Amino acid sequence: MTSGPGDALGGHTGLGLRTPPPGLVLREAHAHLPALGESLTLERLDACTSLGECLERVRGACGRAGAMGESTVRLASARVEAWAEARWPTLSELDEASGPSVGVVIMSFDHHLAMANSAALNGAGLRAGERVKERGVVEADEHHRPTGLLLEDAAYKAWGWAGELSESQRLPLVRSALRLLAELGYREVHDLHSPAWLGPVLRELDERGELSMDVGLYVPLEGIGEAVAGRTGFETSRVTLLGAKVFSDGTLNGRTAHMLHRYSEPRVGYSRGQCLIAPLVLDDHIRLVESLGVQLAIHAIGDGAVRTVLDCVKRVRASRNRVRIEHAEVVDRADVARFGELGVTCSVQPCHLLSDIEALRRFLPHRLDRVLPLRELLESGLKPGHIGRPGDPDAGLVFGSDVPIVRAEPEDSIVASVLRRRIGMAAEDAIAPEQAITEAEAWSCFGIA
Ligand SMILES: [Zn+2]
Repeated sequence: MTSGPGDALGGHTGLGLRTPPPGLVLREAHAHLPALGESLTLERLDACTSLGECLERVRGACGRAGAMGESTVRLASARVEAWAEARWPTLSELDEASGPSVGVVIMSFDHHLAMANSAALNGAGLRAGERVKERGVVEADEHHRPTGLLLEDAAYKAWGWAGELSESQRLPLVRSALRLLAELGYREVHDLHSPAWLGPVLRELDERGELSMDVGLYVPLEGIGEAVAGRTGFETSRVTLLGAKVFSDGTLNGRTAHMLHRYSEPRVGYSRGQCLIAPLVLDDHIRLVESLGVQLAIHAIGDGAVRTVLDCVKRVRASRNRVRIEHAEVVDRADVARFGELGVTCSVQPCHLLSDIEALRRFLPHRLDRVLPLRELLESGLKPGHIGRPGDPDAGLVFGSDVPIVRAEPEDSIVASVLRRRIGMAAEDAIAPEQAITEAEAWSCFGIA
């Protein structure tokens, strides 16, 4: 189980975790507002401690749905690593719990993997072994039967099939997401991978006087041309289109983050994870945003993905602050100084460390010293809290949470940055303690500079 720092704020750490330094205005640099709003309404599995408990929850939710005449169920935030069995149910176990008539989709907490029962696989039209868009996989066993596990776009297809936000739900959900962030002290938020409807909804909130903070948007790359052309239709003094977002690799938990070295226990066929965009295609994406005058935020978790992105920025001679790298959870020593040299914003979510410790020890025991090298990144000259507009010479190191994949409390990232482990863990369990930064330094990465 992930224990957030909140359960151990007894003062024995000496950290003033909940209190940012006076005068510091906080920015949440990486959030997903629609998913956060939705997550406040969905049934969540993050408190489950075993496979049996998960299946009980499925049984209960499907029973209630059936009684109400509903044919789909969505369950959020499953963290299989926290279950005693540390595995997903088999398809027959899930089908047995759900029954044949309700389609169930269980989303992993990291939003890159889901499990669907047979009714949902059939309903969403997903066949064993099928690819969905570039990055989606419908996993098959050795007999070419579906396992129920769905990666990336296959997971989103099933999730979307099981329930799409209706138009009338959008505004209240975004408002409640923003309210939650405002209560945590944030005064600015960047939304990564914003759907086309988000800008207009934010504008409406602003016009009603209900927008609680400044919002910067990064839309999916395929929609950036349209978003730039239509930006006057939704931008206000507080709502700004900042750029586009793409994914260059997967996740550490899924062992799909693109690494320079092999994982221990690699996925078959993906011993160093997955490179989701060919470098030459990424070059074109950077040229496109350059021509449109906006930024490109690139999801790159593994050290291989980080290096690929930096190489692309160099090759196309992108303007400084044209590109920001999201996550950068593992960074090779040779690449640390390149963020500053190339003018690439380093946007990290140290809080992920708290939930990734077990996966890191299991899958990357040989690279623990390269996890979130915050000390080196700051010493390389990155400016804490700074996100420059394209052309601005300074490159920054900024913090966010990636909510709702993890919770948005800034103290989680402060703990991860300073202690490099969860509160309550032994000091020797810290991941790369030599990369710790001070509380003041960590807070400054949340500040708007
Ligand atoms: Zn994200």
